[in-house]
Amino acid sequence: MSQSDTAFYLKPNPAMFDAQLDQLSKLVSARMTYCRKLQIDKIFVSDIVDQVQDIVNEHKGNDLHVLVNPIENQLSYWICRFAMTSIDDAEWLCRAETLIYLLNTKHQNLKVNNLERLTSSNVSSYFPPHLFHLLPDYSAEKYFVCKDFEVLAPLLPFHLYQVLNRVFIIKQSPMFETHYKTALFINQFKNQTETCQKIYNDSGLDPDFKQLLLKTTMLKFGAVQMQSMKEQVKNGLTLDGLESLIKRGALPLCAVRLIRHMQKFNKLKYQERLQLTTYLYDAGMKVEDTISLFKRNFCANGKMTEDKFKKEYEYNIQHVYGNVGAKKGAHCQSCSIIMESVPSTGFAFGCPFRSMTTNEIEEMITTNIPYNDYPKLLANVRKPLDLKYYEAACHHLFQEIFDVGTGGSNPAKYSQAAMSKIKGAE
Ligand code: SF4
Repeated sequence: MSQSDTAFYLKPNPAMFDAQLDQLSKLVSARMTYCRKLQIDKIFVSDIVDQVQDIVNEHKGNDLHVLVNPIENQLSYWICRFAMTSIDDAEWLCRAETLIYLLNTKHQNLKVNNLERLTSSNVSSYFPPHLFHLLPDYSAEKYFVCKDFEVLAPLLPFHLYQVLNRVFIIKQSPMFETHYKTALFINQFKNQTETCQKIYNDSGLDPDFKQLLLKTTMLKFGAVQMQSMKEQVKNGLTLDGLESLIKRGALPLCAVRLIRHMQKFNKLKYQERLQLTTYLYDAGMKVEDTISLFKRNFCANGKMTEDKFKKEYEYNIQHVYGNVGAKKGAHCQSCSIIMESVPSTGFAFGCPFRSMTTNEIEEMITTNIPYNDYPKLLANVRKPLDLKYYEAACHHLFQEIFDVGTGGSNPAKYSQAAMSKIKGAE
């Protein structure tokens, strides 16, 4: 593709660092909204550009200019790239940016480098004469020749091709050209990740700009509400309100699953107890309430004496809260670490979005969280789930219920954001 068509994708414009931060912040926020919408499962399909256009039309608002105005497109593109440099985020962003790129270039008849038409004048530079009889009839139909396997690899399953003398020969079609352009963009995007990381980690980066990058990563899951530490403590979970908070969707499904498991079996194994206790601690529940919650369930139906509970379990809870032992306390792990542990049958630790089937997740939502539009709620959760974006599925659930993003990446932050929203509405 010609340099001028993609120049800005290849190199950030240094002038962007001079732009007003509040203006950049608005542009980035608008772009991230489109990026969240543009998470499509299969990119190499024939109607991909139409699909993207439909999504953009559906969402079209005053902020569409960030995708079509060259300067704003460039600024927001690079800021999002700098901000989303972690492997997970980069993949998420790459998918959306590829689609935006296709949308922006759909009317341009791009001249694609590395892709040459097979003709009588160049045939001998690709193939020795004794192979000529194996070539398709390139005088009657148009064929491309290409040696770049790395770029071609993702789209080969969707096209008929022949390989001769380590050269790919592919019949020309508009679909192939779009796919090739797409693959080239993805390849380019991935190759630049290291440059973006370097810029992100540059210690000389303006602190306000760095702050903007940090905020941008949070926008992956929706508009974010920021809370002070004081507010978080004030909005802590209480035992009395726990059941009604579950019903209002204020507890993430990982916590709901652990609580329901404990209520059903009157016990939790070590890893399950640790995950639930650290969550409750960080979500602001007082230690007395946490002890009562465990005791009430462990000792229900005479399954355990209160004495035994005190001796064997209470100490561990106090330990997590930092009241005994080394008094350091323990904190809730991030979602990405929680997801690494996939429980075997009969256990309830880990992240339900990672380890349960879509049907099981939907059942857990509908039996625990009364909601007036389940089809919409579940469709929004299913979309990222189908792409194995587990954390995004959790955030979509939150966004759908509370109309705002959590801004966090651990279960306690989920509840803090929910409590703040609920308290604000009361
Ligand atoms: S994504 Fe995080 S908060 Fe949500 S259910 Fe999984 S572990 Fe819990």
